[in-house]
Amino acid sequence: MSTLDDVLTPRPRLPGDADADVVIVGAGYTGLWTAYYLAVADPTLRITVLEAEIAGYGASGRNGGWCSALFPTSLPALARRHGRDAAIAMQRAMHDTVAEVGRVVAAEGIDCDWAYGGTVVLARSGPQLDRARAAVAEAREYGLDDGDLVLLDAAEASARCAAEGVRGGTYTPHCAAVHPARLVRGLARAVERRGVTIHERTPVTAIRPGAAVTPAGTARAPVVVRATEGYTARLPGQRRTVAPVYSLMVATEPLPASTWAEIGLAERETFSDHRHVIVYGQRTGDGRLAFGGRGAPYHFGSRVHPAYDREPQVFAALRRTLSELFPVLGPDVLVTHTWGGPLGVARDWAASVGLDGASGLAWAGGYVGDGVGTSNLAGRTLADLIRGDDTDLTRLPWVNHRSPKWEPEPLRWLAVNTGLKIMQSADRAELRWHRPSRRAALFNRLLGH
Ligand SMILES: Cc1cc2nc3c(=O)[nH]c(=O)nc-3n(C[C@H](O)[C@H](O)[C@H](O)COP(=O)(O)OP(=O)(O)OC[C@H]3O[C@@H](n4cnc5c(N)ncnc54)[C@H](O)[C@@H]3O)c2cc1C
Repeated sequence: MSTLDDVLTPRPRLPGDADADVVIVGAGYTGLWTAYYLAVADPTLRITVLEAEIAGYGASGRNGGWCSALFPTSLPALARRHGRDAAIAMQRAMHDTVAEVGRVVAAEGIDCDWAYGGTVVLARSGPQLDRARAAVAEAREYGLDDGDLVLLDAAEASARCAAEGVRGGTYTPHCAAVHPARLVRGLARAVERRGVTIHERTPVTAIRPGAAVTPAGTARAPVVVRATEGYTARLPGQRRTVAPVYSLMVATEPLPASTWAEIGLAERETFSDHRHVIVYGQRTGDGRLAFGGRGAPYHFGSRVHPAYDREPQVFAALRRTLSELFPVLGPDVLVTHTWGGPLGVARDWAASVGLDGASGLAWAGGYVGDGVGTSNLAGRTLADLIRGDDTDLTRLPWVNHRSPKWEPEPLRWLAVNTGLKIMQSADRAELRWHRPSRRAALFNRLLGH
């Protein structure tokens, strides 16, 4: 938020009981995209957004800024559940989504350092190279061509991102780098210009059919949207719906042109590698390297707390990984920012969006770490569902998907943290021995990936 040109003075709280046509709980991308598309479709709708802190306080204001076409459920898993055509339609909708976000960013004049440079995922070990090849082979099985995902040899991959020990990789054009907080704050202003009301510092203590209850009063509407992602477990009855998993990030000081000449990322491609425990980076609009990863522990009882945003040993590990990848980022290069936040994971790793016609309760989330793009698709889909329109979007396979509940504690804690440990040790072993980890493969199968 410190690189944000914005006044963060909170908007007024909900003053008391209120009526609306649609009440949305949560002013992150999901809530705000939903408000945006509803307001565009029908400017007469009375739309109220209730936010516990300020717009963009959650993951939307602090993510890695990959507006990607990644969807947390793999194509084979989608095809097994819904058929091949549905899987392909989902992926194509995600591709279109990146362009759609770019369109609105331009149309609404949202200054968020948008750069449509694609993503390069590096392979730095034999098993990682095997996964790169497998990813491309899988894409071909679902009709995606070189224009969607292409295998790179060592020289081609290094030309995009000159990390240490690159053996190859993959490249997709379907991703843009953004300043995440500028996007969400700009979106909040865009929806207000279209007549949407946002109340900040207004925590919702219960969602019921027709009502969102807050300490100051109850906002009533025929449709109430839950857009609370990693914070969902705090709501009564939702403790086991979405597990909050933390992702943490570091960012360097602005780097000189000479350093960027060594690293590359000339088109501001977002970058990662084919390890198991996700890492992700981007060259920011102001020339920093922002770099993040999972690996922070899951907290017992799906607890969310600002203290969990800061894990010194995870920041140190990210800093070490940065120097391993790019030796030019040695100890003399300053890391000026460290932060983190919770993202939402459903038990079957499936994002979903839906509306229960009988109760008027709607939701979207469970994006794992892929919500920057997916939340836009969710917002457009919710707008269609709420207006009762039958469209290509409302027929996508994630619509009205119901994920199973997470296990009660302590099983949830054990399962999430054990999985994390298996993947971390698999990554270390693969880099050392250049052999794929059997335990990681087994764990992925158990998850249905
Ligand atoms: C460090 C990090 C890096 C990430 N990197 C990427 C990335 O590069 N690309 C990508 O696609 N995804 C990434 N993600 C995930 C992505 O940011 C999220 O999927 C996305 O922002 C979710 O948006 P949302 O609006 O659903 O949730 P959030 O942005 O979390 O918004 C939920 C909002 O609801 C509010 N709220 C919660 N409970 C209540 C309540 N009871 N009453 C009122 N308000 C409430 C919260 O305060 C919050 O503002 C990352 C996440 C993190 C944490």
